[in-house]
Amino acid sequence: MRKDYYARFDGIVLFTRKYRENDLLIKIFTKEFGKRMFFIRNVQRANNGLREIAFPYLRANFVGRINDKGFSFLSDVGERHFPKTTIQNIEANAYAAYMVGLTDAAFEDFIPEDTLFDLLWQGLEKIEGGVDPTVVANIFEIQILPKFGVTPNFVSCAICGETQGNFDYSMKYAGVLCERHFHMDERRLHWSRRASYFIRMFSQIPYAKLGTVSLGQQTKSELRKALDMLYEEYVGIHLKSHHFISQMESFINPLDDKQEKTYDNS
Ligand SMILES: [Zn+2]
Repeated sequence: MRKDYYARFDGIVLFTRKYRENDLLIKIFTKEFGKRMFFIRNVQRANNGLREIAFPYLRANFVGRINDKGFSFLSDVGERHFPKTTIQNIEANAYAAYMVGLTDAAFEDFIPEDTLFDLLWQGLEKIEGGVDPTVVANIFEIQILPKFGVTPNFVSCAICGETQGNFDYSMKYAGVLCERHFHMDERRLHWSRRASYFIRMFSQIPYAKLGTVSLGQQTKSELRKALDMLYEEYVGIHLKSHHFISQMESFINPLDDKQEKTYDNS
């Protein structure tokens, strides 16, 4: 039986890692073959055309040899989307790093994940296109949850099915509760109104329909807090890139946002 084959495939570079003196490992999330580690020999050599693709968040059409075990190999790169803006902007870079980190953690290598591939591709495209990376990452964090084995109901009240009004999240019911049913769970997460409003919206919206969303710093912080609670409970992984995002948030002056009112969702 054949154990390897040449193929043309779309892929997203997740990360690169130096290997021995002159070689490089590149982890690529391929649409057809899942996540694979590719080996590039003599990457420093000037005539090595593959040098130009050794950047995280790069999206391209590749040609290479796919092995069923161990490393795979690249031989050519076709149409590519270089993440120029993403790499240059510290905030965009941080959120893109978090998204690829989650992708790497969410499921096993070698398994194709079409839906998630499209989600990451489009998300990175949005960030590169100048859409607020916080919003793009928040949508990604919410929509990737099923890959961690979690499918919370963000849309309708877990008790009565209500879809309008204010909501809060309940671990006990693995979904949102409408205001009338807040009393069903004393330990609901006490998300702010705005956080639950946007999380519900972000759980539904495809990137293709995402226009310009402008969120104030206060709203962003509330969303961060709410999503961190979900991740702590359901996912429990601690990525370096997430730590960096939290640190970055504390650099931002909250006074920039004083025109926003504070809502209490208790
Ligand atoms: Zn209800």
